[in-house]
Amino acid sequence: MERITWNQYFMAQSYLLKSRSTCERLAVGAIIVRDKRMIAGGYNGSVSGGVHCIDEGCYVVDGHCVRTIHAEMNALLQCSKFGVATEGAEIYVTHFPCLHCTKAVIQAGIQAVYYSEDYKNDRYAIELLQQAGVVVQKVPIEMEPLQVEQKELVSQMLDKLESYGDPEIKELREKAAGSFIHLNR
Ligand SMILES: [Zn+2]
Ligand SMILES: [Zn+2]
Repeated sequence: MERITWNQYFMAQSYLLKSRSTCERLAVGAIIVRDKRMIAGGYNGSVSGGVHCIDEGCYVVDGHCVRTIHAEMNALLQCSKFGVATEGAEIYVTHFPCLHCTKAVIQAGIQAVYYSEDYKNDRYAIELLQQAGVVVQKVPIEMEPLQVEQKELVSQMLDKLESYGDPEIKELREKAAGSFIHLNR
């Protein structure tokens, strides 16, 4: 089995967190890493104890859902809540951070931002990150955690079909292989 890279490993963790999001507009996940260890994580969701967008619909003002706290912010706030230093840490986030989160990330002393998907990449955010000397790198996710499980399941089913001598097995395998390549929506 091929060994997963640190970048892919941490990015996959942020995708796992993304699946906990409660907002219907965009699901985002983020994790903060220091010395190759996850120190905090977050997804975009309501303030603790608040109603969820998935139950009550989004609270939209000027085209933005204002109910949720963004994933990056939640991860940073988890650090402040539990007294964990963020100076020199790195953040892995599923989508390019918005301007507000970018400012918070810089101010918290984060040194690198790894993101998987471009999302309205804010020009001023990019400028601020450059100014602060923060490393910004796009790390497209190769496979989301859920897809790893799905792929495993499909491959087991295909093996079973093959053991029954299914004549279409070759075609099915090709189809399956093609449907698991990608992933960047
Ligand atoms: Zn929402
Ligand atoms: Zn944000």
